[in-house]
Amino acid sequence: MDHGGTILIDRQRIRTRVHEMGQALSDDLAASLAKEGQDALLHADRIVMVPIMTGAMIFTADLIREMPLKMSIRLVTVSSYPGQSTQSRGASLRSALPDDLAGHHVVLIDDILDTGRTLKLVRDLVMEQSPASVRSCVLLNKPERREEDIIAEHVGFDIPDEFVVGYGLDYDGFYRNLPEIVSLPE
Ligand code: 5GP
Ligand code: MG
Repeated sequence: MDHGGTILIDRQRIRTRVHEMGQALSDDLAASLAKEGQDALLHADRIVMVPIMTGAMIFTADLIREMPLKMSIRLVTVSSYPGQSTQSRGASLRSALPDDLAGHHVVLIDDILDTGRTLKLVRDLVMEQSPASVRSCVLLNKPERREEDIIAEHVGFDIPDEFVVGYGLDYDGFYRNLPEIVSLPE
């Protein structure tokens, strides 16, 4: 596919890192459950993965298959770059949020943490429901761009302030199916 960009992170590095992240996230969740006296593999019926669509689609599919935990998956849709734009104009919720998260261990999954508006929006709404815990897990992080006071507990790669596509990330709806993370020229 001709995207005119340069490969920032290739397939093998993504695969290796997603495998590590799945293990680390599973260990983290299992530790929380163990504190409550629950066995993660057998009795963890309160883990809820919340992928933020559409960007987190491919990352989520790979990540959750590296996690040997019982979990449910609840999608939310947030939009932040309407149309042909590479500048965030704020985040807005485009779907209903699950409303039964009280007492659950919630993991928010996104493709990239940029200004932080998207994760902050979803996290604040989830917190209103008194979950047992909330964690955020993102494949990519642009630390220089942060505007909100928010961190992700699980981060795949810190990247520079460049606009990237591929592995779920789009430009104007395209390029999500590229298997690598590609940096597009400005
Ligand atoms: P934030 O709300 O943290 O500014 O941005 C998060 C959302 O913006 C991500 O879920 C993603 O959809 C989009 N985004 C941020 N940076 C990039 C980027 O470099 N490339 C693409 N394709 N989307 C981005
Ligand atoms: Mg997104």
